[in-house]
Amino acid sequence: MNVSAEVICVGTELLLGSILNTNAQFLAQQLAEIGVPHYYQTVVGDNPERLKKVLAIACERSRLLIFTGGLGPTPDDLTTKTLADFFEAPLVEHPEVLADIEQKYARRGRTMTDSNRKQALLPEGSAVLPNPSGTAPGMIWQPRTGLTILTFPGVPQELQMMWRETALPYLRSQGWGREILYSRMLRFWGVAESALAEKVAPFLTAANPTVAPYAGKGEVRLRVSAWADSEAAALQLIEPVEHQLRQIAGLDYYGRDDDTLAAVVGRLLQGHQHTLGVAESCTGGGLGAMLTQVPGSSAYFMGGLISYDNQAKVNLLGVNGEDLETHGAVSEAIAQQMAVGARSRLGTTWGLSITGIAGPGGGTVQKPVGLVYIGLAGPDGFVTSVEHRFGELRGRDWIRQVSASAALDLLRRKLLALSQSSD
Ligand code: ATP
Repeated sequence: MNVSAEVICVGTELLLGSILNTNAQFLAQQLAEIGVPHYYQTVVGDNPERLKKVLAIACERSRLLIFTGGLGPTPDDLTTKTLADFFEAPLVEHPEVLADIEQKYARRGRTMTDSNRKQALLPEGSAVLPNPSGTAPGMIWQPRTGLTILTFPGVPQELQMMWRETALPYLRSQGWGREILYSRMLRFWGVAESALAEKVAPFLTAANPTVAPYAGKGEVRLRVSAWADSEAAALQLIEPVEHQLRQIAGLDYYGRDDDTLAAVVGRLLQGHQHTLGVAESCTGGGLGAMLTQVPGSSAYFMGGLISYDNQAKVNLLGVNGEDLETHGAVSEAIAQQMAVGARSRLGTTWGLSITGIAGPGGGTVQKPVGLVYIGLAGPDGFVTSVEHRFGELRGRDWIRQVSASAALDLLRRKLLALSQSSD
């Protein structure tokens, strides 16, 4: 059995969507913060039979069950009784809880009704989890060896206060939350998720650290996570694995955690004391936006020319009008001329360009939506271009975003190659 926690929220109004399950969010954050693994969350209506079914599954797979809701005085509040029935424990009245409820009612100028007595009943062997603000207390119970149950009322403020004041210190005293989970996110560009997953397959089934692949907006990420009793100890587990993953991925690895392609390119440009100018067509400034999102980018990014129309490509960048006629604006030749133009007009070390068909219209069989050319011009007459076929399925915004990232990646690889050749 996993030494893990499970959160079970009771309430038909949660199932109906009348309220948002903020208790689950709070508890999930708290469990992550103290490093208690938490693999399952369940929401169940105010129904004893279904709650028993949930319990039967939960106590087989988790060691700490945290219940919220269903502790009130009304007949549909059935959490405590259902738990007692399930573990065949009699309910016993706690006089001190009853006295506390009575007092709270008296303070509000109200008299306690019989239905409130129910809130003073807890399964034999359980301890009261005091509720300083509301009337419904929770409980701490170990109905059998190796299984701990905590119950909380549904009202978020009451739950949060009870968690902080009593439940959390109790869990710590019982040895829960000694370990922390520390993760590092490794970022890759230019490789498909499935291809990378295949290359690193043996790591994906390892236990500590675990390695999990993610994909989004054209990039692939590997999250490397380790459980340990300190951040330093977790890093000791993570770093050798990180090193091996980076070796396997080669140039497809571009950075980790909060790194972006633009920030990585910026660091490389600064390292070489180089500058950059860009020329954009279908991205309409998206590349410049990515570059300028990085604080301090004015040290290396000189500016960009948005040459959307053919005439603008001629006027702003000096692209050859006849070549535009012959090859079309979306072509290797024009991407290269745009890059050369950006470099000379902006007086920079590098010129980077993008021309493509973002769609949804404008595609042909020869030049479909998603066809994008990236051009790069540099010192000593260096000029190159790369063709991408991003496809039309993920739409215009996606094509524009991945085009800008792909342009940054082309320059990143070139700068890395330069660094390696000068080593
Ligand atoms: P009470 O003592 O107020 O009767 P209870 O334990 O019976 O509390 P519920 O009746 O299930 O709890 O819920 C009380 C209120 O708390 C709900 O009306 C709702 O506003 C809020 N609540 C219940 N469950 C959640 C949840 N999972 N997330 C956020 N809010 C919740």
